[in-house]
Amino acid sequence: MTTIGRIFDLTVAKYPNKEALYDVRKDIRLTYLEWSEEVNKLANALLHEGVRKGDRVSTYLFNTEELATTFFACAKIGAVFNPINFRLTPEELAYIIHDAQPKVVLFEKMLSSGIEPIHHRFEKTRFWFIDEDTPSYAANYRDKLVSAPYYEKDEHIDENDMYAIMYTSGTTGRPKGVIHKHRDMVEQSLIVISSTKVISDDVGLVTAPMFHCAELHCALLPRVHVGGKNVILHHFTPKEVLRVIEQEKITKFFAAPTMWNMLLQENLSEYNLSSLKMGLYGAAPMAPSLVFACQEKLGIQLIQAYGMTEMGPAITFLSEIDQIRKAGSAGQVCLNHEIRIVRPNEDGPSEPDDIVPAGETGEIIVKGPCMMDGYFNRDEATEKALYKGWYHSGDIGYLDEEGYLYVKDRVDDMIISGGENIYPREVEDCLYGHDGVLDVAVIGQPDDRWGESVTAFVVKKDSSITEEELDEYCKNSELLANYKRPRKYIFCEALPRNASGKIQKFVLRKQLEDLFA
Ligand code: AMP
Ligand code: MG
Repeated sequence: MTTIGRIFDLTVAKYPNKEALYDVRKDIRLTYLEWSEEVNKLANALLHEGVRKGDRVSTYLFNTEELATTFFACAKIGAVFNPINFRLTPEELAYIIHDAQPKVVLFEKMLSSGIEPIHHRFEKTRFWFIDEDTPSYAANYRDKLVSAPYYEKDEHIDENDMYAIMYTSGTTGRPKGVIHKHRDMVEQSLIVISSTKVISDDVGLVTAPMFHCAELHCALLPRVHVGGKNVILHHFTPKEVLRVIEQEKITKFFAAPTMWNMLLQENLSEYNLSSLKMGLYGAAPMAPSLVFACQEKLGIQLIQAYGMTEMGPAITFLSEIDQIRKAGSAGQVCLNHEIRIVRPNEDGPSEPDDIVPAGETGEIIVKGPCMMDGYFNRDEATEKALYKGWYHSGDIGYLDEEGYLYVKDRVDDMIISGGENIYPREVEDCLYGHDGVLDVAVIGQPDDRWGESVTAFVVKKDSSITEEELDEYCKNSELLANYKRPRKYIFCEALPRNASGKIQKFVLRKQLEDLFA
């Protein structure tokens, strides 16, 4: 195995004059050689600032050239890259800076309201600003670059060095910093290249947030690995995505289910999307009806990836040829990895040898080279998560006779009503099939008689649909046993989601509590 810095240098040597990157907002185009000069200037600047191997460098940025450059500059000098979610509140941000103790935080103008109220708490951290009009408490990134001496290659970084700490979105509790080493990510990159057929002719659109490992590890890194081009969109807006696909002749991109759904709401006939070959989806469940609609209306093939930050993230793939035959599945385990379904244990981590038969649900556990090294500063959580060498996902699912994985839900989201287990995702998938439903989330509401009862939050596509109509639809659906039918519908304008498109069910539970308090 090699390091991420070396992957980058090898591509630069192979394709010096090939276009590597286009930052749409700034209208900057860089060849691999030009990009490499930027990466080296930043690597120098960080060394100059006293950043050494193992020190953390954080980014609090939308998708920008600087974020991509920091990723590779850190990798080259052995600094630990820590991309922070730009949607966090100042307090959440402060929590992460406090935990990760970065030497440098890079941020941008549109996000300075997050840094402004908290920077003074971190005396040892330097704040670097990537735009013009630098605030007084920060230094300008460009000034740092210019003042740096030429970067001499560092030879002491190896595959077992820490490469990044990424804080998980944390659907419950405080976010945890997931540690990955260089070798985990090189392995992940190779897996994505083979599973999604990444080639040097690919022009990829980077539109999902780059601080999330799905975009970074399943799209940007593999594309750099093979010498492809990355077109960076500051953030996701459907019209801009479609315009840029046409302008740059994009061949592939990754998007979370909500993003695909938003694209389909646009007037697609206004754009020439003929360059598009393939889309990757994942990070949250996507109803098969939505997958088929994307394939048909966008005229592309889709591949699904399943996984989580702790897994690197992608660990199973559902290939384009399996989309219909295995609809609803997350696919087969990737190369060099092993997956098991084991009986959940209420008192602690599930036993890796307590395997359930094919078709039976249990906890998904995974073993292989992409798994995280552990959680930063959290030995106890690490020990539990990596119990007996298997990463315990907290996801519930099953494997069919052919070894295809079906992800049912988070262990914590399962509803138990009248003693029966109900997986909210099954109910959501059923409701997604109704034409009048734009978005839906199902949760359990405490119920004196049944323990919990099924409640659906629905965003209407068609304002005339009623509770009775949806109930009738579920009753007649072959997908849903009667006891799984929602007993209550709550219509709302939008569902609370985190940056990777996952519905924040804890917010909905709180809303329900408040409604019926
Ligand atoms: P994160 O660590 O933020 O990437 O979140 C990981 C979680 O997202 C997993 O534990 C799953 O519950 C969910 N997830 C990711 N990919 C898929 C997928 N393809 N299908 C269903 N759920 C998914
Ligand atoms: Mg997570």
